Amino acid sequence: MHDVIIIGGGPAGLSAARWSDELGLDALLLEQADQIGGQLHHIYNPIGNYLGRSAANGEQLLQKFSSDLEAAEFDQWTGVSIRSLDLRAKRVALASGEELQSIAIILATGVKRRELGIQGEREFFGKGIMESGTRDQELFAGQDVCVVGGGDAAAENALLLAEKCATVTLVHRGKKLRARREFVERLQTNHCITVFTESVLTRIIGDEQVQAVEILRRDGLKPFQLAVRGVLIRIGVEPNVELFREQVALDEKGYIVVNREHETNVPFVFAIGDVSNPAAPTISGAVGAGATAAKVIASRLNAR
Ligand SMILES: Cc1cc2nc3c(=O)[nH]c(=O)nc-3n(C[C@H](O)[C@H](O)[C@H](O)COP(=O)(O)OP(=O)(O)OC[C@H]3O[C@@H](n4cnc5c(N)ncnc54)[C@H](O)[C@@H]3O)c2cc1C
Repeated sequence: MHDVIIIGGGPAGLSAARWSDELGLDALLLEQADQIGGQLHHIYNPIGNYLGRSAANGEQLLQKFSSDLEAAEFDQWTGVSIRSLDLRAKRVALASGEELQSIAIILATGVKRRELGIQGEREFFGKGIMESGTRDQELFAGQDVCVVGGGDAAAENALLLAEKCATVTLVHRGKKLRARREFVERLQTNHCITVFTESVLTRIIGDEQVQAVEILRRDGLKPFQLAVRGVLIRIGVEPNVELFREQVALDEKGYIVVNREHETNVPFVFAIGDVSNPAAPTISGAVGAGATAAKVIASRLNAR
């Protein structure tokens, strides 16, 4: 029997684990990936907005987190596959057959990138489908590329790629880009960038590597092909809630609803970080929420 089982080893879960140790809680952290860190593995830009811990990229920040966690005593299992979770009973069954039990559960499962769900999207990942504009800018230097999305991430990546690529085509299904005004102005004045609004990607085409995309414009009768060597998809994120979707209250976008103590509608089940905070998904927010949840759990257990 553990005091708390933390599901997810990103900044939120790691902070909850660190605080659990400090507060004398017996904590077990379960991470499905082979390594802890969550989205930090996908941050290639410098991080200057996490006060006191600026870093050249997510990996460097993770190294700092890991060295802070060295002295902390909590169990951490990576590469774990959870078969089922009973939030009311606080029981976790692993695919390996093991059954775990705790007094409290902290859900820190974060978010994943939304997919277009079109032909070629998964097939060409790493074969022309890019991970990040910052990381892949050099790889696609001098080539024609396409960016999908209309928010800040899509606009920022299109601008970054335009520094090195021959042409960048930004494809957005809405009438107007949602990106901040500064990005939109820069997109409009950049001669390398073409913006297609009210347009969708219908297929990614290639053999070994991406060779073209198929675009359908709202005013067009049939899709047309655009030759590109690279595609970057930035159409937002969605919360990782598949495991417990039916057991906890979610908002209209599928994020977990919590109160100011980060508790869900199920007593002694807490949710922290991006999976519960669509308004301000940040490292500082995730780390702060981890501290709050651990402190609330500790004070409740002490009062028993
Ligand atoms: C490109 C990029 C740049 C960013 N730049 C910044 C920045 O400059 N400043 C800033 O503050 N924030 C930035 N962020 C946002 C920041 O990374 C997130 O807000 C933060 O990582 C959220 O932490 P989290 O722990 O809630 O979730 P995540 O980091 O998403 O971690 C969730 C973890 O839960 C695990 N998990 C999911 N489901 C399960 C399951 N069923 N079982 C076990 N484990 C599971 C996942 O594998 C993952 O490791 C950036 C994000 C990206 C993608």
